[in-house]
Amino acid sequence: MTHPDCLFCKIAAGQIPAQVVHQDGEAVAFVDINPQAPTHLLVIPRKHLATANELAPEDEVLVGRLFRLAAKLAAEHGIAESGWRAVVNTNRGAGQTVFHLHLHLLGGRPMTWPPG
Ligand code: AMP
Ligand code: ZN
Repeated sequence: MTHPDCLFCKIAAGQIPAQVVHQDGEAVAFVDINPQAPTHLLVIPRKHLATANELAPEDEVLVGRLFRLAAKLAAEHGIAESGWRAVVNTNRGAGQTVFHLHLHLLGGRPMTWPPG
């Protein structure tokens, strides 16, 4: 389940330090090291899934939990009403650089559309 060479597996296991804002048996959330907005958190499952393409039917509840956790964290960080964006970059063409599924939670500034 844990991938030995995966940065986010190591953060989830506490082997690499991060500014963790939430952890439970299934998910961990921490501050992005290179924030793109005043609030920029990463919400990850403890389970190693390289990309969203690897999601299986058995992961449906997990994905729902990650998304609800993002909404809860958005509320805790005061951006639920002003607005927040959830981004899941999938594969290199979409900008994915860390191959452990993660949801970017961005907010605290106006967001433009379309995204870059
Ligand atoms: P992505 O480009 O969608 O794969 O997102 C990877 C994100 O991980 C980027 O926003 C990076 O800034 C962030 N990141 C990389 N290394 C760390 C780290 N050690 N701690 C926290 N965030 C990180
Ligand atoms: Zn991993």
